[in-house]
Amino acid sequence: MDGFDPGAGIIVLAATNRPEILDPALLRAGRFDRQVLVDRPDRKGRADILRVHMAKVQVAPELDVAAIAGLTPGFTGADLANLVNEAALVATRRGGEATTLDDFTQAFERIVAGLEKKSRVLSPHEREIVAYHEMGHALVAMHLPGTDPVRKVSIIPRGIAGLGYTLQSPTEDRFLISQSELMSRMAALLGGRAAEDLIFADVSTGASDDLQRATDIARNMVVRYGMTTELGQVVYEPETGSFLVGQMPVWRPKNYGDGTAEAIDGAVKALVDQAFRTARDTLEQHRTLLETSAKELLARETLGPDELRPIAQRLKRGPTHPQLIVDGTALEDAALAARLGE
Ligand code: ZN
Repeated sequence: MDGFDPGAGIIVLAATNRPEILDPALLRAGRFDRQVLVDRPDRKGRADILRVHMAKVQVAPELDVAAIAGLTPGFTGADLANLVNEAALVATRRGGEATTLDDFTQAFERIVAGLEKKSRVLSPHEREIVAYHEMGHALVAMHLPGTDPVRKVSIIPRGIAGLGYTLQSPTEDRFLISQSELMSRMAALLGGRAAEDLIFADVSTGASDDLQRATDIARNMVVRYGMTTELGQVVYEPETGSFLVGQMPVWRPKNYGDGTAEAIDGAVKALVDQAFRTARDTLEQHRTLLETSAKELLARETLGPDELRPIAQRLKRGPTHPQLIVDGTALEDAALAARLGE
């Protein structure tokens, strides 16, 4: 950003589809220091966009815009414009005077056949799995101490790999992270898979990135931060100090024996297992809340701070809080909610 007069009122904007691979130096204060996420629209956003495009064609007066919005999770604004166009074509072809819901359904089916190749439209069962997966991350993160606050949970598909996402933003830049905070972070990362395991008694490939990140944390705890008793306060794999780490494979000679390598692998696995148990126990304890909030997420597609706040409050209270034991029995989340008039 050098060369601009700070008083000249020039704002520099840039766009990217891969914010995760930007050099952090670009994002420092005084450079590109604000990030605006332009997302695929949620259900309400899609209804608003549809209305704009529908104003240009003749639509039947009884047409239910909300129903069409409900049909089209994952559609971008351009996809929706295309849908309105196609539906109008279908109506013209059959000689109709106005575009009806049937025309939209036909147009939708034609477009989806094309989109499915790009794997952007999920089946209802897949959406349900994604909803539980993302709520799993969110509930574990909200429940455990030392995790970043959850700002947004969404099941709107983004890009190729991400089926949904849970946005946690750090409250402050962190230089020191404690061992227990790292454990909480790992548990939150594994919360998605734990929810799938708990609800569907089956797991999906949707968690591969989560597992990679949790394993990286566990490995660093063992080989860099000396956080396991078995391996002690020894650094086995020093930081390379290059900003290209992660983009280029760096080959380094191993400076420990095979026995140590085995111990490291064992310690990493033990840490990941422990974090997974924490995540699963947390979700099992709050199963009703997981179910109600996943259903809410399915219906709304995005939960923002306003929807997440009451969920976080119910989590902190917990089902076994002393004052909630009535006649010697702890109330379940649902009964508790009813009693408290929520
Ligand atoms: Zn996940």
